Amino acid sequence: MNIALIAHDKKKDAMIRFCKKYAHILSHHTLIATGTTGTKVVEATGLKVRRFQSGPLGGDQEIGARIAQGKVDMVLFFRDPLTPQPHEPDVSAFFRLVDVYEIPLASNFVSAELFFKGLAYEEDREAY
Ligand code: PGA
Repeated sequence: MNIALIAHDKKKDAMIRFCKKYAHILSHHTLIATGTTGTKVVEATGLKVRRFQSGPLGGDQEIGARIAQGKVDMVLFFRDPLTPQPHEPDVSAFFRLVDVYEIPLASNFVSAELFFKGLAYEEDREAY
C-alpha cells in the first residue's frame, strides 16, 4: 500500500512514537510524507520515506495531488486541533480530497493503531 504520513508540529512526537511501534508493518509499505514529518520519521526509524515539501510550503497539496491521481491508499494525518495552522486552507482541501476519493484516514494515534491492527491481521492471514 501507499501510505501518507503527515503530522502537525505538536503531533510529530506522536507520529514518531507510532512509526517506531509499527515500523515492522510500515516497512512492508511505500511511505510518503510532508517534509518535516518525513525527515523526523526517517531519523527516528530508518524507514524509507519519500519526502515532499513541508506542509505549509505546499506539501499537503502535493500529497493531495497524489490522492487525486489514485496513488495513495491510506493517510495518517495526525492533526493538532488546538493550534491554528497558517496553511489551514490546504489542510481543509486535503481532507476534502481524502473524502472525495474515500481514502482511509486516521487523524490521531489511536485511530492509526486500529488501522494497523487490521493490517497486521491481514498480513498474518496472508501468511497462512
Ligand atoms: P511538515 O508538514 O511535515 O512539513 O511539518 C505537516 C503539516 O503541517 O502539514
